[in-house]
Amino acid sequence: MRIFEKIDKMQAFLTAHNVKNDAIGFVPTMGALHQGHISLIKRALVENEVVVCSIFVNPTQFNKQEDLDNYPRTLEEDLKKLEQAGCHVAFVPSVAEMYPKPDNRKFDFGDLEHVMEGEFRPGHFNGVGVVVSKLLEIVKPHRAYFGQKDFQQLAVIRKLVKLINSPVEVIGCPTMREDDGLAMSSRNLRLSADDRKHSLLLYQALTKAKQMADEGKSPDEIRGEVKALFDASQNVELEYFEIANSETLQPVTDWKNAQESTACIAAWLNGVRLIDNMTLFP
Ligand code: AMP
Repeated sequence: MRIFEKIDKMQAFLTAHNVKNDAIGFVPTMGALHQGHISLIKRALVENEVVVCSIFVNPTQFNKQEDLDNYPRTLEEDLKKLEQAGCHVAFVPSVAEMYPKPDNRKFDFGDLEHVMEGEFRPGHFNGVGVVVSKLLEIVKPHRAYFGQKDFQQLAVIRKLVKLINSPVEVIGCPTMREDDGLAMSSRNLRLSADDRKHSLLLYQALTKAKQMADEGKSPDEIRGEVKALFDASQNVELEYFEIANSETLQPVTDWKNAQESTACIAAWLNGVRLIDNMTLFP
């Protein structure tokens, strides 16, 4: 595996592949890699001749300095995992390399950015848009792989590539979970042993929501039930639970017009924020 810190060096390497018309698959990450990330790499390896994974903790998408400071950084182990998975290129730029000068672009993601994550993390998606557009410009991949774990982010990225007229094909990949159901996340590393147990409430709430939707319960009945589950917990604080139209991400009020809906959740455990989601087929 080749490791590049500098944009020009990586681009020189990729040029040789471009000349051969090799398809380039790209997996952007913030590191602290787990099997969820590796599942994206594996998929990219099946579909492309060359796979590039970036590891960059992007400061512009953090709306809390503390969250940025505490974000887990495990570069050495990450590189080993990428190598083992068969990844061809790791791109590990510094902040100065990515932002030689401030990038003040503002993207208009429309209604997508005002709900859920957008409401509770102001500026987050603009920061994601800035860094992903830069990375796509640098790597020029044919396909880019994103996890459905970050469901709203995936919708924002699909919108982004339209806004910037990028020819990249955006591919959404299923959420990888621990055996007990907890969605894999770099932030899980920050959970204490007790909180790791309590964190299961997110998956339990989503499973309950799906079960209720299958039984024909209304979106509001489900919202009430999930709120009650969290009200009864002393350890997990619900930030939001929403049943959103999977395309528009707007709240679903009844099942009539919602072709496919997704239950989305964010909750806090002692300063660690976790998100998860589950598709509902009412
Ligand atoms: P992150 O490093 O958290 O920015 O994530 C990098 C990419 O990995 C994003 O596209 C995420 O959606 C994806 N990802 C994170 N966790 C998982 C997971 N449990 N399963 C599948 N993909 C994931």
